Amino acid sequence: MVRVVLATHNAHKAREFQQILGSELPGLEIVTYDGPEPVEDGTSFEENALIKARTAAEHTGLPALADDSGICVDVMGGAPGIFSAIWSGTHGDAAANLRLLLDQLADIPDAARGAHFTATLALVVPGGEPTVVLGVWPGSIAREPRGDNGHGYDPIFVPDGHDVTAAELDPAEKNAESHRARAFAAILPALRELAEAGGRS
Ligand code: IMP
Repeated sequence: MVRVVLATHNAHKAREFQQILGSELPGLEIVTYDGPEPVEDGTSFEENALIKARTAAEHTGLPALADDSGICVDVMGGAPGIFSAIWSGTHGDAAANLRLLLDQLADIPDAARGAHFTATLALVVPGGEPTVVLGVWPGSIAREPRGDNGHGYDPIFVPDGHDVTAAELDPAEKNAESHRARAFAAILPALRELAEAGGRS
C-alpha cells in the first residue's frame, strides 16, 4: 500500500477528494496533512498547488497531492481567480465572498454571466518530477444564492447543462462532474503509476 498525503486543511475539499477517489485506487491510502501550512505566494493556481504539495512532501517524506481552486468570472477577466478565498477581505468568509461577487455583477445581464470553477492538482513525489493538471467546470453566475449542499461559491454557480446551482445538486452528482472530479481524472494515471510502482517495490 502506498501512502499519499493530501495537503489540504479544508475539510470540505478533503471529503470531496475521498468521495471522488472512492475505490478507484485500491493500492493507495490517502492520509491527511497536519503539518505547517506554507505561505501561498504564488501568482497562479499552478504555483500555489505546487507550493502546498512541495511543503507537505518535504514535511512528511511522502508523495503529496495538493489542490488550488477558485472561481473565475469571464466579465471580470478571470477574477476572483486565485483570490477566491479572500475576495471580500476575510479569508474563508464564504457568505461575504459570494455576496460581494453578486453585488459586483448586479448590472451584468444573464447572457454575460459566464464563469468557471477551476481546480489545479499538483502531485509531488520526493526525488521525482512534479505532475500538475487542471480541471475546469464551466457555468454561469446566478442572481441569488440557492441550495444548501456544497460550500464556497456553490450556491451562486449554475453549471452548464443544469438550471440548478452546484449547491442544489446532489453531492454525488457534483462530485461526478466538478472541476475537482475533472482534475482528479487527469491526475489518475500518475497516481496509478505510483500505486503500481509501490506494489512492485
Ligand atoms: P483554496 O482553498 O486556496 O484552493 O481556495 C479555494 C477558494 O475557491 C475558496 O474560496 C472556495 O470557496 C472556492 N472554491 C473552490 N472550489 C470550490 C467548489 O467546489 N465550490 C465552491 N467554491 C469553491
